[in-house]
Amino acid sequence: TKVLLTGGSGFIAAHILDQLLAKGHSVVTTVRSEEKASKIRAAWPEKAASGELQVFIVPDIAQENAFDEVVKVPGLEVVLHTASPFHFNVTDPKKDLVDPAVIGTTGILRAIEASAPSVRRVVVTSSFAALINESKVSDPSHTFSESSWNPVTLDDIHNSLATAYRASKTLAERAAWDFVKSGAAKFDLVTINPPMVFGPVNPAIATLEAINTSNARVADLLAGKWKSDGVPDTGAAIIWIDVRDVAAAHVKAGLEIPEAGGQRLFTTAGLFSNAQIGQIVRDKFPELADKLPAADAKGGELPGESERFKFDNKKTTELLKIDWIPLEKTVVDTVLSLKELGAY
Ligand code: NDP
Repeated sequence: TKVLLTGGSGFIAAHILDQLLAKGHSVVTTVRSEEKASKIRAAWPEKAASGELQVFIVPDIAQENAFDEVVKVPGLEVVLHTASPFHFNVTDPKKDLVDPAVIGTTGILRAIEASAPSVRRVVVTSSFAALINESKVSDPSHTFSESSWNPVTLDDIHNSLATAYRASKTLAERAAWDFVKSGAAKFDLVTINPPMVFGPVNPAIATLEAINTSNARVADLLAGKWKSDGVPDTGAAIIWIDVRDVAAAHVKAGLEIPEAGGQRLFTTAGLFSNAQIGQIVRDKFPELADKLPAADAKGGELPGESERFKFDNKKTTELLKIDWIPLEKTVVDTVLSLKELGAY
């Protein structure tokens, strides 16, 4: 199958790319710079040489016509749209987060509609951010599922950067469903809605200086910051998933499970806390003991059952049939991969 994967240098996308190429698919991927393009070609040299891997430069997905050329690559069947800003180096939340998320999503859908008639399915990487409701996270009577929608609006984006990011994902996903609901599209849509994603980075592409946002807390832990500054709060999103499982969900939903069409897939392995991550690192990496917070250090605990939301992703687990990787393995593999980047 010939697949277009946007944002190929990203944390999640690099795993999708790896899995697609390993399964023998042809991939056209987009990155923002020639520097990233050459890193990708160097990571899969045979595939780049054979033409099974093609890399296009799309510098800014917030430009309306960003994807107009790349979608013209003949024979594309599936599009996996992962590119979207997930960082908090933000001066203007509308311009830096919302616009690239929303315009990137509508732009690629419009470009496919106009110039890629062979595309049968589009998978958009959305997020638990589009399911969550910030006013319900401490409500034990509330259950988030595949049918939940974050009620956030553009008016809320100045509340906090976390809210602005959640708005960017929510508005982008809404725009995608609105696009296909209008009935004109020749392709169907699937969204993948993962919560916090942890797991190994691709050492040929990632750097410690620009570590992806969801792994940053593990990098901070290894740098001794939890010891010096205290164990950070886990945050509102107290559920997680391994990056390899998120990647597999994209591949399965995009290429292998026809019935996934029209679905929102809530990929999560369950609850986690920073306290648990710290504990796993302490148990599995005794050589790191002097960089870690004291064994009895408080902070980062999971809220009690009466103080946290519930979630239900049965539908997704049954459809994808992925045996979610457990937290311990994910944390160990994340630490080992950050070690490869020189974290310790
Ligand atoms: P990364 O930051 O590693 O990946 C984001 C990708 O989007 C990068 O390739 C980045 O390029 C690209 N990108 C961002 N802004 C632009 C822009 N304006 N123009 C072109 N490209 C852009 O993070 P992840 O891999 O974690 O994120 C991938 C997707 O998964 C995103 O849609 C994110 O919202 C979603 N997601 C992530 C979760 C997580 O916990 N990691 C949880 C739920 C959803 P560059 O690196 O060159 O800036």
